[in-house]
Amino acid sequence: MVTIKSERELELMEKAGNYVAQVLDELTEKVYPGVSTQDLDFFAEQRCRDLGVIPAFKGYHGFPGCLCISVNDEVVHGIPSSKRILNEGDVVGIDFGVIYQGWFGDSARTFPVGKISSEAVQLLDVTKESLHRGIEQCREGNRLFDIGHAVQNYVEKFGYSVVREFVGHGIGRALHEDPQVPNFGAKGKGMELKAGMVLAIEPMVNAGGPAVQVLEDGWTAVTRDRSLSAHFEHTVAITADGPRILTPVGVENASK
Ligand code: MG
Ligand code: MG
Repeated sequence: MVTIKSERELELMEKAGNYVAQVLDELTEKVYPGVSTQDLDFFAEQRCRDLGVIPAFKGYHGFPGCLCISVNDEVVHGIPSSKRILNEGDVVGIDFGVIYQGWFGDSARTFPVGKISSEAVQLLDVTKESLHRGIEQCREGNRLFDIGHAVQNYVEKFGYSVVREFVGHGIGRALHEDPQVPNFGAKGKGMELKAGMVLAIEPMVNAGGPAVQVLEDGWTAVTRDRSLSAHFEHTVAITADGPRILTPVGVENASK
């Protein structure tokens, strides 16, 4: 069932989203060569405690971390570990969500570790831009697949591919609500978008082919051809005034 949020509910979701954004902003300075992915996870957990919000992923279907941290050919759902040390030149996807007063926020960014190759820079830039092209379609009267069409159309111009097995989603009082939001599809297809819908738009883009496989840990998804992958996500409300990003970059104090 697709839920429609009231203005009051959108304000609470915006609070949740701003907490997510603030912690991701803070993590930007924590990502450097030599740090372990567990260090990043502990930082996020402590910040949730400080800010009085609940990390949304910890314990979700048994996931052990607050953050999903996916390095290089890992697409999504990497498990934080003290043994996983970031190296100069890596790209690291960090996916984070919180619960604030029963409402969820969800966002992801892919960070460079030190200096990265020009190929990696382009992959990150294209993936981030594809997210914004998808968000631009989050307008009343548009159709659901207009979002994925915009993402796919942009990404494939660069010879990259969008992941099929994982998709964006509705979000609200649950982390994953209807509808599913694929990063591919035909323009003009799917349900009509209405004001008050909130969607997590999250392109996962591979430098090589689209196929992924899940490792023996049951969580970590990697590209089957071991090519680099990037992931950016925002929680976005559809409003009468157009798309409103609830997890914006550059939040300085979410509790305000
Ligand atoms: Mg996410
Ligand atoms: Mg999500």
